[in-house]
Amino acid sequence: MTSPFPDLGGIAPRVGDPRCGSKAFPTSRPCSEPATWHVAWSLTPETAGFSLVCDEHMDEVQEKYVYADRHPAEIACDMPSTGWSLAAPSRCVPVSSDDLPGGDR
Ligand SMILES: [Zn+2]
Ligand SMILES: [Zn+2]
Repeated sequence: MTSPFPDLGGIAPRVGDPRCGSKAFPTSRPCSEPATWHVAWSLTPETAGFSLVCDEHMDEVQEKYVYADRHPAEIACDMPSTGWSLAAPSRCVPVSSDDLPGGDR
């Protein structure tokens, strides 16, 4: 299944060092600036998609795309076995099951 969301993420493996994954072109190298925002394109489990972006690319996201939620990027955002908690404000929390969108993929 192709993702309906822009390819701004997907730097693997997740090691607790959130970096902006934004690419000017699909073949470009990712931005790799320290990420300041964690963006959720969708929070529906079937279509959940997330990206880590820096301030500069957050501006671009806000101009060009519609996202479901965002929160400041922190180490948990780039750790395996974490998921997007829908608490207000949202944040990434360790999960032991895959019942949260964005759980260990
Ligand atoms: Zn960036
Ligand atoms: Zn996060």
